[in-house]
Amino acid sequence: MQLSELIKKDPAIERVAKAEEVIWFNPGLRCRDAAFEGISLTMADIDDAEARLRRFAPFIMRCFPETAGNGGIIESPLTEVEHVRQRLNGHGGGIGGRLLLKRDSDLAIAGSVKARGGIYEILKHTEEIALEKGLLSGYDDDYAKLAGDECRGVFSQYTVQVGSTGNLGLSIGIMSAAVGYKVIVHMSADAKQWKKDLLRSKGVKVVEYKSDYSEAVKRGRELSDADPMSYFVDDENSVALFLGYAVAAKRLKAQLEDMGIEIDENRPLIAYIPCGVGGAPGGIAFGLRLLFGDNAHVFFVEPTQAPCMLLGMASGLNNKICVQDVGLTGLTHADGLAVGRPSGFVGGVMKTLLAGEMTVEDYKLYDYMRALLDTEGIFIEPSSCAAFEGPMKLCSREGEEYIGRHGLEDKMQNAIHIPWATGGRLVPEEIRKEYMSTYLK
Ligand SMILES: *Cc1c(COP(=O)(O)O)cnc(C)c1O
Repeated sequence: MQLSELIKKDPAIERVAKAEEVIWFNPGLRCRDAAFEGISLTMADIDDAEARLRRFAPFIMRCFPETAGNGGIIESPLTEVEHVRQRLNGHGGGIGGRLLLKRDSDLAIAGSVKARGGIYEILKHTEEIALEKGLLSGYDDDYAKLAGDECRGVFSQYTVQVGSTGNLGLSIGIMSAAVGYKVIVHMSADAKQWKKDLLRSKGVKVVEYKSDYSEAVKRGRELSDADPMSYFVDDENSVALFLGYAVAAKRLKAQLEDMGIEIDENRPLIAYIPCGVGGAPGGIAFGLRLLFGDNAHVFFVEPTQAPCMLLGMASGLNNKICVQDVGLTGLTHADGLAVGRPSGFVGGVMKTLLAGEMTVEDYKLYDYMRALLDTEGIFIEPSSCAAFEGPMKLCSREGEEYIGRHGLEDKMQNAIHIPWATGGRLVPEEIRKEYMSTYLK
């Protein structure tokens, strides 16, 4: 489709194609009941995923002693970052209410949001094999025994493969190696060297591609499909990944309650989640809208050169369009978000659930990163920092249209803003230093 035709579908595409920063409100957004009408996934699916993670907790604890403190449940803190709020407001922001950072950057094992979906999908696959092979007698068996030599011997006959820009590969690779599988990670050109090195040190086979993420996924899928003992984690279409991410919403609700925060008509929850192919932010958004209904407003944030989900949703073409089709490069310092073509599955589910999107220029990511470290002593990786552009844009003149339309004017002073920090813990010290001294503008 010609650019001019795309712009007729949604005028925002004109600025998107020029790599300008935009805020985009999803015209397909619907109220709670209407929003879920065409969606077959439900709360029961999230409950099922949560229960599976609980069954595996003794196993996780045995493989990863670092998770013992939390009983084998992989969860991240929710931290109020008032000093960042003040710093951002000092730099032109108008963020009212409270700013709470969801720190998936600190998640155990994988150090990123991928520890949710990626690890969940590997566990689900493992449970299926274990039940089929009689390694488990049923759901009430003791899953810790799966870490024993006999079970590992069985798992070692199987292969797991995945395509990744880095963090998904880390999560799938580390978890699969822990279970005992052979693992092959197909890494796109954007993947950082230290992520490949770390995986290789764990015995994971890393195949490198000079092309982008979509190509690495395609090759990985082909190679896996040709091997009957191989399982492919399909980031573009996986319902399991999506549900693993969605569990985050239930956990967040409990954390808010622990902090004495109740989300209701007068206290909206506004989440801002960095988006790559869409699985992680999509799953979380789905869970938040299910749990908080119309009191949850979820925005995705993407780099100006790789706004694939925004382009797919605004054009209505979903995965039938990529950022290169409108002349963008897909290249960005936000390696976790360097995706040119969105998940069609997620785009479809988000159609009625997502409030909108913001895009952000790369140079700001480093500025946000320094601001967070300076004021709160918290390090997160550049991709994660895209989240802060969310409240900056929504709480500016650019956001007024949305706030007015949803009758939020007098509620913004009560709002709970949640930028979702999606990665960081595993970034090596020397790379952190490099990031800290990166100034693009
Ligand atoms: C993968 C990733 C995301 C986005 O997840 P998608 O499922 O690709 O949309 C965001 N931030 C970081 C750091 C990531 O690694």
